Formats: sequence, structure tokens, C-alpha cells
Amino acid sequence: MRRRAFHRPVTPEVEISTTRVTGAIGLYGGTFDPIHLAHLRLAEELADALELAQVRFVPSGVPPHRAAPVASAPHRLAMTRFAVAGNPRFVVDAREVERAGPSYMVDTLASLRSELGDSQPLWLLLGADSFLGLPGWHDWTRLFALAHIAVAERPGASLLQSDALPDALRAEIAARRVADGSAAGPAGTVLLRHMTPLDISATAIREALARGHSARYLLPDSVLDYIQENQLYA
Ligand code: ATP
Repeated sequence: MRRRAFHRPVTPEVEISTTRVTGAIGLYGGTFDPIHLAHLRLAEELADALELAQVRFVPSGVPPHRAAPVASAPHRLAMTRFAVAGNPRFVVDAREVERAGPSYMVDTLASLRSELGDSQPLWLLLGADSFLGLPGWHDWTRLFALAHIAVAERPGASLLQSDALPDALRAEIAARRVADGSAAGPAGTVLLRHMTPLDISATAIREALARGHSARYLLPDSVLDYIQENQLYA
């Protein structure tokens, strides 16, 4: 496995503390264990489709709906910073890592909403598998009051034809679905969107690395270097 010397500092300019934008904002949460090219491509394609001024990547601190991550929250935050560096629309939002307790998305959106005000258009970006699990999320129906939801198809997780689509979610789609994001107000609609299918998963990347196989071209080189340097795939 190729290894490079690791001297680059974490890039502070991707933080959002003083950034102010005009236009719709996307919020993209994930475990990012590690962040990979399908994550980045999803954000890029939805940012184009929705004309987002900014996408905030929010690494989960303590993911409430899944097994504990392999990499610690600070490591996943650092990898996310490396991954988004150089994309002027992408920033990292560390609030879930900095907050104690389970990282409920409804709390994250509520805190963002209180910072940005009631009229700011906000889009929660999700892959289809996450969307299918939405009714299991804490206080999930309140999400629609806080943000729009944009869902990108994911290989292996088809949406509307799926038996896995819970009735409650089907009803929300029927009531809220829009064809595009152009006429949307601050929150409350659902957009289902095709994206370039990329069958990449963090689990498969960790498994490949644990077997001593290459994960190159599945994630940014800078993230791969960080993983190797910190042995994050055990
Ligand atoms: P794991 O394999 O550990 O479950 P993951 O690759 O699914 O990880 P997450 O951090 O759990 O990554 O995903 C964050 C978000 O990105 C979720 O909304 C998920 O649906 C979406 N996502 C992840 N991989 C893809 C992909 N290949 N295509 C579309 N969406 C994806």
C-alpha cells in the first residue's frame, strides 16, 4: 500500500464560523467513516440541482441509528475537512461532534435554524437508504418543519417501488413531493433525485483496507493518507 509522508495541517478555512452566504443551504450529515467519493458526488450533484450556495458537511458525533463507528469523531471530522478542502461550496460543520449525547438530526437542524432564521431555505441531503430509515429517527416528522429533504437514489436502495418504503413515508412523499427546488420556501418539501450511481460504501472501504487491498479512487487521496497514517480501518 502506497504511503506518503503526512505533513499537511488540517485546513481551517473549511469551517463555517464566520461564513455568511446568500441562497439556499444544504446540510449533509453522515458517519463519514470514512467520507468517500459517492458522498462528495451526492453533495455536488444536489448542490447543482438545487442551486445551493453552500453544503455543510456534518459528521455525526454519536450516531444514534447505527453501530458505533470505527474511527473516533475527531478523526472523522478531520477526514471530512480534508475531503471538502478546495471546493468553495463545501464547508464542515462540527456541531454534532462538539455536542454531547446522541447526534439527533432534528436537534442539529433546530440549532442551525435558530442561527440562520426562519426564512433561510435549508435542504437536508440524504441517500435513499437513509431516507427509507427516516421513520426510525428521533422526532422525525419535525424534520419537515425545519428543512426540505432532497433524496438521492443509491444503488441497491430504490425508493418508490420499494416494499421497504414505510407507509408513513409514502404519505409524506405524496403530500410534499416537488419536481425541482425552484419554488421552494424555507422548508417542507421532498425532492427525489437521480444521481450518478456510485456503489461505494464506507464499510466496503474499511473491509478492503483491513484485507490489505487498495481503496484508491474510491475516496480522496488526502483521506486515504489520513486513514493509513492513523490506522483507522482495524
Ligand atoms: P456505511 O457503509 O458505514 O454504512 P456509508 O457509505 O453508507 O457508510 P454514511 O456516512 O453512513 O456512509 O452515509 C452518509 C449519507 O450518504 C447517507 O445519507 C447515505 O445514504 C449517503 N450515501 C452513502 N453512500 C452513498 C452512495 N454510494 N450513493 C448515494 N448515497 C450514499
